Amino acid sequence: MSLFSRALVTTLPLVPKAAVGKVASRYVAGETLDEAVATIRRLNALGAAATVDVLGEEVTERAKAESAVAEYERALAAIDAAGLDANVSIKLTMLGLEIDRGFCRDNVERLARAAAGRGNSVRIDMEDATTTDATLAIYRELQPEVGNLGVVLQAYMRRTLADLDALPAEGANVRLCKGIYIEPRRIAWKGYETVRRNFVAALAKMLRRGIYAAIATHDEYLVCEARALLDEHRVPGDRYEFQMLLGVDEQLRDILIAEGHRMRVYVPYGTDWYPYSIRRLRENPEVARHVMRATIGRAFGRNSGRTRGAADHGFRSAGPPAARPPEDGASSGGSR
Ligand SMILES: Cc1cc2nc3c(=O)[nH]c(=O)nc-3n(C[C@H](O)[C@H](O)[C@H](O)COP(=O)(O)OP(=O)(O)OC[C@H]3O[C@@H](n4cnc5c(N)ncnc54)[C@H](O)[C@@H]3O)c2cc1C
Repeated sequence: MSLFSRALVTTLPLVPKAAVGKVASRYVAGETLDEAVATIRRLNALGAAATVDVLGEEVTERAKAESAVAEYERALAAIDAAGLDANVSIKLTMLGLEIDRGFCRDNVERLARAAAGRGNSVRIDMEDATTTDATLAIYRELQPEVGNLGVVLQAYMRRTLADLDALPAEGANVRLCKGIYIEPRRIAWKGYETVRRNFVAALAKMLRRGIYAAIATHDEYLVCEARALLDEHRVPGDRYEFQMLLGVDEQLRDILIAEGHRMRVYVPYGTDWYPYSIRRLRENPEVARHVMRATIGRAFGRNSGRTRGAADHGFRSAGPPAARPPEDGASSGGSR
């Protein structure tokens, strides 16, 4: 990431919330469940499934974790009622992991059973490294009982290949992504090409072991490698899927759908949209540049119409440096 890009990313939190919201709105379905349902319906019509994320994290009060569970139950009911092709993705820190592990485990079980009752499934997102052991332990504990849980492994973690070995292949369902948190070099690979290399190695291991593979990336190189591995291992179409974030590289999404691959789009919604959007913008300083330009333009009385034009084109013009994983100390961590 260039010095200029890094400076922009660092100053993003100073940008007025309204300006961030305007440019970042493509990453978030909206504040309400109805808006999420409308987005899923549109994605389903395009041939993509969805996974719904109720925005929010790091809950420290039981009541907040319980209301998150209730919102997910509402989402599962709405998906069922509307006959949509969508499951849900949850974060354990939002379901009380930092309050009490048993409480969190019970919340996950409650949601898994609510989903199972509707023939649906739940994916446990992976958060920062302080939660990895607990996340995998809860997944390993509950999956044999409920059977409809998936988990996530991050290619930037040095432990990922070993974590794959420790998962029972039977019924395992793993989303593989690069990883978004800022972790120390002691535990995480740092080079862009190194993370790619480990992604390919992890995916190859998943396919060799017959683990259901949810391949979550917008990196065309990895998509290309994944297609070669899927072909080499003769993986049937119902044993893998590609996954992408809402609003990111829709052209690649449509190409993969047209090629006949199963595609699932991560659809976040909720009133807690701001931190999520800042993280998406951090991944793409090209867009951050447009936000800053629009903000400065407004401050100096220029035509704010530029904001809209920039927003419409900015995301698609992301250059490779924008997508490099953050280095140590570049900025604070965050979740998807
Ligand atoms: C469905 C899904 C679920 C995820 N779940 C988790 C999780 O549970 N835990 C976790 O740590 N991480 C998660 N992530 C985030 C992931 O770890 C990466 O940070 C993110 O996907 C970017 O990595 P990439 O593989 O797309 O490669 P990158 O090299 O970052 O990006 C490749 C290309 O994609 C485009 N791109 C990437 N991001 C953006 C953006 N914001 N705006 C516009 N273009 C962009 C650019 O063109 C870029 O060149 C998830 C990602 C996806 C797609």
